Amino acid sequence: MNSIITIKAFSDNLIYLYCYNQNDAIAIDPGESSPVLKTLEKYELSLTAILATHHHSDHVGGAVELKKKTGCKIIGGDNKRIAGIDCVVESEQILTFGNINIEVISTPGHTSTSVCYYIPRNNENETGILFTGDTLFVAGCGRLFECDAQTMRDSLRKLAALPDNTNLYCGHEYTLENYEFALKIEPDNSLILQHIAEITKKIQKGEPTVPSTIAVEKAINPFLRTDTDRIKTALNMPHADAAEVFEELRRRKDIY
Ligand code: ZN
Ligand code: FE
Repeated sequence: MNSIITIKAFSDNLIYLYCYNQNDAIAIDPGESSPVLKTLEKYELSLTAILATHHHSDHVGGAVELKKKTGCKIIGGDNKRIAGIDCVVESEQILTFGNINIEVISTPGHTSTSVCYYIPRNNENETGILFTGDTLFVAGCGRLFECDAQTMRDSLRKLAALPDNTNLYCGHEYTLENYEFALKIEPDNSLILQHIAEITKKIQKGEPTVPSTIAVEKAINPFLRTDTDRIKTALNMPHADAAEVFEELRRRKDIY
């Protein structure tokens, strides 16, 4: 069974090591190198590749150093803004590592070249895995730096269409504040209240709040539900279309 190690970086970034082939590992969004190098050493893993979801330094800042120390390849969706990149991916491209296939999903919104990485399950008993960077967060979504609301919404809909039991690993530990904002929008959503209680316990124990699942996000994340009457009513936009509602929701979160 392949496993995922979550590494905390900076104040709230999450770096992941996806382990495969006994002792090989892929790093997702290594914003800094030192905690990754320590973890590789601790578990006796060798780093074969870095997958970057986007070019922001809190996601790729450690990549060049890791490449220098381990000889791994740097893979991402932006050939100009990711230093040291070896392989520029396109949407729907399949990356193969040993017997692992990783699908690239193009998700412009947070940046124009953001991508997510999806590892489909092999059988009924497994769960799929999705690394979302700053596109989809637990209970929230990334800020719109380079694209409009419609573009981000289209990207999020691609992710929401993945199987319900897909585990979601995002780029930041923003979960509690996202849930608090979601509750402000929908004070009567009991699922949100229930999740806040669970998340709070995890945070108190020092545990990360990932993974979430696509099923949970579809039930609680307001950014995935701007086409519903509940969210439209909550925003006092009963007749607006989903993209307009999305834009307004993102605007409110920006000033929250
Ligand atoms: Zn970012
Ligand atoms: Fe970030």
